Amino acid sequence: MKEGQSALHIQKGIAQPDALNPLFQKGQLLVKKRQRSVAEYVEGILKGDTVLLSQAITLIESTKAEHKILAQAIIEACLPHANQSIRIGITGTPGVGKSTFIEAFGQQRIDAHHKVAVLAIDPSSQMTGGSILGDKTRMQYLANRPEAFIRPSPAGDSLGGVARKTRETIILCESAGYDTIIIETVGVGQSETAVHSMVDFFVLLLLPGAGDELQGIKRGIVEMADLIAVNKADDNRLMLAKQARAAYQNALGLFPPKESAWVPQALICSAISKMGIDDIWQHIENYQKFTKENGFFDKNRQHQAKYWLHATIQEELKTRFYENENVKNNLTSIEQQLFLGEITPFQAAEQLLRFL
Ligand code: GDP
Repeated sequence: MKEGQSALHIQKGIAQPDALNPLFQKGQLLVKKRQRSVAEYVEGILKGDTVLLSQAITLIESTKAEHKILAQAIIEACLPHANQSIRIGITGTPGVGKSTFIEAFGQQRIDAHHKVAVLAIDPSSQMTGGSILGDKTRMQYLANRPEAFIRPSPAGDSLGGVARKTRETIILCESAGYDTIIIETVGVGQSETAVHSMVDFFVLLLLPGAGDELQGIKRGIVEMADLIAVNKADDNRLMLAKQARAAYQNALGLFPPKESAWVPQALICSAISKMGIDDIWQHIENYQKFTKENGFFDKNRQHQAKYWLHATIQEELKTRFYENENVKNNLTSIEQQLFLGEITPFQAAEQLLRFL
């Protein structure tokens, strides 16, 4: 072999090895990726390394037992570095402008030298196997900014599972220096409760067009909102948006006072022209100051932690129950006894629960 063909220094009299492993050249050498250690993940995350952050989130989302153990160790090590953030939930029906709004809002925060993480809770990803929320192609600006991190909803899981994983992902993102956490969800169902239980501030986006009674949005969701933003208040919709704003402001007044003592407002904005975005941030900042002073901010995060403690116990117990060998072996025969009227559902449950 001629000098210069190998990276190794040539010593006279010593046979030179090949520059490449011949098996590798033939494509026969399979290089197994080394599993990184907890310390490597944690160090990388704390430095803001997005590759390691993404890989650690993949471990959180994994169903493999060894990944789960690794993920829990990473989360535990990151926990002391989390918490320094504002967590904002954004909800609204498809087409209301959530992703456009998050783009504009995220840009506003980045311009003010903050780092933004966008996560999503999408119950429909269970069925479709993928999520349209928190999708990078919908957020072109943020997707190309080093100050932003976008992660879609994990697919193929129960809502409870998705929500727990998102909550754990928040901890890792905060440890990586993201101080503005946005959780996106569709304003149609159950997922709002889950999001509400992990954010400090909850924004409901609505369209101009008053009269149609909160656009099919469930009363419970409106009640959770700390702010209603009437989006698309531009061009010929401006007047309509102003009317809608007034109607929603009235609707908000009909709800009982919030535990936070914060009085939610309805505002108008245009995510496309960025009108009203500064104002919305100002509102959130005021809320943060107000609830930190009256103690609600910290108390709420403690309540949320307690909620997740119990939610995790319930989820874990359920999994252990249905995965229990005795339960699996006896479930059909006990169901049979139930159908024949030999036992009541309560007796059946009692018998099965004894296996735990
Ligand atoms: P999402 O499904 O809630 O995420 O909604 P998108 O952000 O994808 O927006 C749906 C459509 O509404 C897109 O065609 C956007 O360009 C448009 N849109 C979003 N925000 C505004 C706005 O403030 N004004 C106008 N005129 N159109 C908007």
